[in-house]
Amino acid sequence: MRCPQCGEPVVWTVTDAGRRLAVNKTPDENGNTAAYRDGTGTWRSRRPTDELPLARWEKRYMPHVATCQAQAHRKKRRPAVLPPGVADMAAYRRRDGP
Ligand SMILES: [Zn+2]
Repeated sequence: MRCPQCGEPVVWTVTDAGRRLAVNKTPDENGNTAAYRDGTGTWRSRRPTDELPLARWEKRYMPHVATCQAQAHRKKRRPAVLPPGVADMAAYRRRDGP
């Protein structure tokens, strides 16, 4: 499976709540999601807790939404930083414009 937004390989899991969650295909020890493939081939995911830490058959994964380039790009609202000179030139043109 691949992310429809950015094309990165992802695994679609089903959470404890029955919701679908895409995680990065490569396990990530910094991820906050524990996932494993159950007997029917369905990927199950959950949030590890102190009471229920990572089980031996689970690995940590990063939810894809946390690293998706397409979504990160969409969320970015910071204005682009213009290289010095570009802004100066625009100001110069405005001052001396017709
Ligand atoms: Zn993506």
